[in-house]
Amino acid sequence: MSILIIGAGHAGGAVAASLRQHLPDAPITIIGDEPYLPYQRPPLSKAWLKSDVAFSVVGLRPQTYYEQRSIGLRLESRVAAIDCGYHTITLASGEVLTYGILILATGARARRLGLAGEDLPGVHVLRTLADADRIKAGLVAGQRLVVIGGGYIGLEVAASARLKGMDVIVVEREQRLLARVASPPISAFMKSFHERQGVAFRLETGVAGFDVREGRVTGVKLSDGEIRVADMVLVGIGAVPNMELAEAAGIACSNGISVDLEARTSDANVFAIGDCTERPLPHYGCRARLESVASALEQARQATAAIFGAKAPAPEVPWFWSDQYDVKLQTAGLPIGATQVEVRGDVDQGKFAVAHLDDEGRLCAVEAVNFPKEYMAGRAAIGNQRSA
Ligand SMILES: Cc1cc2nc3c(=O)[nH]c(=O)nc-3n(C[C@H](O)[C@H](O)[C@H](O)COP(=O)(O)OP(=O)(O)OC[C@H]3O[C@@H](n4cnc5c(N)ncnc54)[C@H](O)[C@@H]3O)c2cc1C
Repeated sequence: MSILIIGAGHAGGAVAASLRQHLPDAPITIIGDEPYLPYQRPPLSKAWLKSDVAFSVVGLRPQTYYEQRSIGLRLESRVAAIDCGYHTITLASGEVLTYGILILATGARARRLGLAGEDLPGVHVLRTLADADRIKAGLVAGQRLVVIGGGYIGLEVAASARLKGMDVIVVEREQRLLARVASPPISAFMKSFHERQGVAFRLETGVAGFDVREGRVTGVKLSDGEIRVADMVLVGIGAVPNMELAEAAGIACSNGISVDLEARTSDANVFAIGDCTERPLPHYGCRARLESVASALEQARQATAAIFGAKAPAPEVPWFWSDQYDVKLQTAGLPIGATQVEVRGDVDQGKFAVAHLDDEGRLCAVEAVNFPKEYMAGRAAIGNQRSA
């Protein structure tokens, strides 16, 4: 049974390793369009920007790991099409490869604003190591950074840039930061923490365009008419799932490639894992697309079990983390069905947790700031209280 994995990211690297443990002889090949061995993206907005970090720190495994286990790596190779009928994929070069099992681990790409000037020098998104290297080269003390989007990536880059001595302003369309992913107490805490570090904010403000001089973006035009001068701009407005390959092959997609708890798509021989998928969340009785390492790793285990013929692993409570300055934010669960919020700990001391409970007092989610004990206890309680 030959296994092809499309996408040499966190999910693709993880599923290759776990499959090899169970299937010592199956031909396994990872095909990725980036030039690197599978690596972790979380450090790109954190340690990678702040200090000189070697690739070996972010790489999932060294080259020798793949060589010794006969895991084929086709890097800088883009898959252009899938034919589920013939069990083939076609690379952009025209080469055709055959599979017994296909795993889609194509991840997501940075969302764009769709404004003129966005592709000019001076404007960045952050998804890949190459993006991070370009941003890092522009982090110069005293220069001005405009961050568009007050989500995790925007705030993490803002923190890294402030630590490098840049002048930073974050422009956010919503009324509060992290509006899509965190509760109001967390948003308020993070805003005042960043302000104390010298970051400025413009909330409820959109972006109308860019100021361009000599082929380079030199400013951001805000929706209220103000122009913010910028040496560098970061657009951090979310990610879009890479599901076009699957859609074109007739595989069912919604807000991502649709999969079940075995990471199986609508085609019995095709699995999908990681940021490109829309997956069931059994603790909450719904489906969603999660962009997290934890979800990618869980789905790698689900796919491995299904391919190997083992029982599906027990569903995990979703979890996530973010590091900004010395603040560690950890979240477990999702506030789906929550009707009450309880703040525990000491917000002023920067050590607290926000618990989200439903009508019956069951914990739906916990968000913890520098409070790993509450986070761990909350994560266990959600798993115990909510049957998956
Ligand atoms: C800056 C940053 C910070 C983050 N911080 C955190 C964090 O703190 N905590 C957390 O849990 N998560 C974090 N995440 C999210 C986390 O990195 C993702 O959830 C994780 O990388 C998902 O892995 P994946 O393999 O599904 O996708 P990816 O890692 O994106 O890998 C997909 C790979 O597939 C390749 N590909 C796509 N299409 C094709 C094709 N047609 N042919 C060949 N190759 C293709 C892509 O180029 C990419 O290399 C962060 C993400 C970013 C960008």
